[in-house]
Amino acid sequence: MKILVMNAGSSSLKYQLIDMATEEVVAIGLCERVGSEDSFHKYGLDDNERKIEVHLKDHHDAVQAAIDALIDPADGAIKSLDEIDAVGHRVVHGGEYFSSSVLIDQDVLDKVKECSKLAPLHNPAGIMGIEACADIMGDKPQIAVFDTAFHQTMPARSYMYPLPYELYETERIRRYGFHGTSHRYVAERAAAMLDKPIDELKIITCHLGNGCSITAVDKGQSVDTSMGFTPLEGLMMGTRCGNIDPAIVTYLIGELNMTPAEANDLMNKKSGLLGVSGLSNDLRDVRAAAEAGNERAILAYELYSYAVKRYIGSYVFSMGGIDAIVITAGVGENCDRMRRMILEGLDDLGIVLDAELNAKRGGERTISAANSKVKILIIPTNEELMIAKDVVELIG
Ligand code: AMP
Repeated sequence: MKILVMNAGSSSLKYQLIDMATEEVVAIGLCERVGSEDSFHKYGLDDNERKIEVHLKDHHDAVQAAIDALIDPADGAIKSLDEIDAVGHRVVHGGEYFSSSVLIDQDVLDKVKECSKLAPLHNPAGIMGIEACADIMGDKPQIAVFDTAFHQTMPARSYMYPLPYELYETERIRRYGFHGTSHRYVAERAAAMLDKPIDELKIITCHLGNGCSITAVDKGQSVDTSMGFTPLEGLMMGTRCGNIDPAIVTYLIGELNMTPAEANDLMNKKSGLLGVSGLSNDLRDVRAAAEAGNERAILAYELYSYAVKRYIGSYVFSMGGIDAIVITAGVGENCDRMRRMILEGLDDLGIVLDAELNAKRGGERTISAANSKVKILIIPTNEELMIAKDVVELIG
């Protein structure tokens, strides 16, 4: 069975064709700068990767380019669209409507459209991807997999904000949480690595990439997460500030005469690692500068790691203890220095990092010391595979 996984961002489309018999990726591609003159399509596995400058005026063009590459008679991964059994779409926001993945019909599409208000950059792109697939591939089953769905199990004490209750009733202002597919994937893999049923485990999953979030997973269910009404809340990220005093926003607008859009831009695109270091949103650059003694780069490391440590602490308390901490995504999987800073000094709490194991590279692995009560695991995330698995489950 072959599943096409589509991930439409505001100006991009990533796709993978996965053969579920082997869970192998048989084709992969990326359309970037969709909607602008300098758009391009990069596709092909490893050494066969190629980049084509092609004008993609919208996501329909991008989906068409992807399909054309997949069935290219010269070197496409498949001969015809008949070989694709179904399509799984990453959809960012499912609001309170969706607590699991669903087969897309008109009602689902209407609800995703309604949630566009909550994710104005991402949901419209997802909708365009779904509509383009329906247009190009006819009645091929399409499944929506939501970033927010995994977190719908959170209790009210985790998802409500202490604002006037009417804002929840009328505007649905509450914590939704994001990166749900990644948190779910790594939590399930953690249970497999620990060889225990997930419903006997308390796990903290840390997704530390350009975007960062952390989730408390109790018995396989998300009970709290750091991202909120939008992905801005919580941890410090590549360019997002995460938690700050909300009064700073009114200060920026009232005292510095920023427009709400400028304040939003500052917090989402000019803060985090980039804003503090003044160098880059990429931790590799910040690391090089920190190792050369750059004080703001060192401060950026400290703020970033301390934010993660704080959250781990609060989730250990709120869950009444933990069995495992899982670290994933670009920063988490690759930066031993950051992992060390996050996890050092916790020995008395039974969280003991093995310095040697932490310094090694690799795939799924344990980096806690033998005497650590809490297991520390690195698990490379694989949202595409999780999406494809959901598709298989739904279409049987
Ligand atoms: P992601 O959003 O999961 O793709 O993560 C991307 C981020 O991971 C980049 O912006 C970098 O900050 C970080 N990253 C990737 N590789 C490394 C590395 N070797 N060392 C430190 N950070 C890395």
